[in-house]
Amino acid sequence: MLITKCFKFYAAHRNEEIGGKCANLHGHRYGLKCHFEVHRQNSISTPFSAFDERVGRLISQSYDHGMLIHKGDPLYHTLNQHMRAHDEQFKLKVLEGPTSVENLAYTLFSEISALGFCLVKIEIQETDTSHLEYSLSDWKADRAKYAWRCEVDEKDEKNLARMTLATASCAVALQS
Ligand SMILES: [Zn+2]
Repeated sequence: MLITKCFKFYAAHRNEEIGGKCANLHGHRYGLKCHFEVHRQNSISTPFSAFDERVGRLISQSYDHGMLIHKGDPLYHTLNQHMRAHDEQFKLKVLEGPTSVENLAYTLFSEISALGFCLVKIEIQETDTSHLEYSLSDWKADRAKYAWRCEVDEKDEKNLARMTLATASCAVALQS
């Protein structure tokens, strides 16, 4: 069975790779819908509050009212210089690639799975008229193709182990 939980966050970003209006700094109200595979154990499977606490905390601490930035974007270097020079600390969410909604989906999928949940699909609403659906198989294909590793993995190898375990049990659950 699946449990779906919805979250939202406000963040600035730009996409320096595709140019045009997307290369300008701007912001979105991102909507995030997570579909979790769960297994009933008595009368319930996973309390809704478990998702709110752990995924909600990740969103509020790392994403909300922050700025998504590609670590290869020259602007990231400029922002770091500014923070050092003015003793300011911006909330930056550093991505391994340009901050497209596809790369954001990869990062969010990795980080939410690392919390120990069996995530099968996420949906990200970037604008009023555009949203992306991103599944476990998309995540596996991206991981194989780009071999990106999200920030959480680099900081804590245990998270990587948990994520591998969670996604492996997801794959078993989906096949059976
Ligand atoms: Zn945008």
